[in-house]
Amino acid sequence: MTQTSRPFLPFVKPEIDEETIQGVVDVLRSGWITTGPQNQQFEAELSAYVGGRPVRAFNSGTCTMEIGLHIAGVDPGDEIITTPMTWVSTANVILEVGATPVFVDIDPVTRNMNLNLLERAITPKTKAIMSVYLAGLPVDMDRLYEIARAHGLRVIEDAAQAFGSTWKGKRIGAIGDIVSFSFHANKNVTSIEGGALVVNNEEEAELARKYRLQGITRTGFDGMDCDVLGGKYNLTDVAARVGLGQLRQIERFTEKRRQLARAYFDAFEGGAAVQLGVGLPPENFTDSNWHMFQIALPLEKLRLTRAAFMGQLKERDIGSGVHYPALHLFTLYRERGFREGMFPHAERYGASTVTLPLFTLMSTDDVEYVVKSIDEICEQFGHNG
Ligand SMILES: *Cc1c(COP(=O)(O)O)cnc(C)c1O
Repeated sequence: MTQTSRPFLPFVKPEIDEETIQGVVDVLRSGWITTGPQNQQFEAELSAYVGGRPVRAFNSGTCTMEIGLHIAGVDPGDEIITTPMTWVSTANVILEVGATPVFVDIDPVTRNMNLNLLERAITPKTKAIMSVYLAGLPVDMDRLYEIARAHGLRVIEDAAQAFGSTWKGKRIGAIGDIVSFSFHANKNVTSIEGGALVVNNEEEAELARKYRLQGITRTGFDGMDCDVLGGKYNLTDVAARVGLGQLRQIERFTEKRRQLARAYFDAFEGGAAVQLGVGLPPENFTDSNWHMFQIALPLEKLRLTRAAFMGQLKERDIGSGVHYPALHLFTLYRERGFREGMFPHAERYGASTVTLPLFTLMSTDDVEYVVKSIDEICEQFGHNG
């Protein structure tokens, strides 16, 4: 047919401007390429962004959560409550510190932990809650902290996807207990790989600094001590310089993502996909940073598996992803007793979700092409009624 050739549209792609590239070249030429002045500047600007709270930068948004659990005083045997609908690292760090993950099913509309089910998961062993903001959509933060306070629990927020999101006008990270961000290449702000931990006070910030690099404290010209079992989690200055260049564009990035998300809703409206029952995310234009745009396929009405649906998109030069299979069904978690049927909403969503292209270098024309393609696929492979 008359398919004009379009360049392949990936589901995500970072936007690195020339100023940032030049900044990285300057760092490489400066003679100081690992953790140094760029890290200090990155931490200072991140701290300013979250209303002056202490922030430490790291080389991932996974180690930040693990260190957050240590700072919160989590011990082996403690129970940590989280959602099964997240990147597996959220639960892996719980196992890593010797604690026990306890899952709460998602709300099928928000796709986040259902806070109505949270309290009944709390036991005398519960130490903390790890909340996750899938696609950048926060949970009801007032409710979350009300429950945490009522039960004396710490909160380690996995806000990996929520940099730039807000709650009642306040930035995620500017409120709350311990907050973890990721700057992985696919996140709204990237340092290629990287992360940041927002903590409550200088004492926690000092502990975070120690955990980041072997628990070492230096004094004077030659003094050195190690009093905490830290690891190797420091961010290079090359990466920090990329992060700085990104952070300075966060408002524009979020604005562009919201515009593209709006274009998705407009394009889907009344079309074959929606008529067939394709599920759209909540239409939130106040709090979400639109980290992702995820649909849920009505697989019972399609003569296609999800993989075949993604293959149909690929044939039309459209990339897509899956975020995520419900993680309690992974082998590591099955070995710990988790099974099908335990968290039915997460399981259904995890089996049917597809992440569509959404990144700042895209146009609303791209969005319209993606939705037109999905409508076509639904017309061709759907059976209504
Ligand atoms: C990206 C991500 C992480 C981990 O971040 P890394 O920087 O890749 O370690 C954790 N949780 C969620 C929800 C994420 O999306």
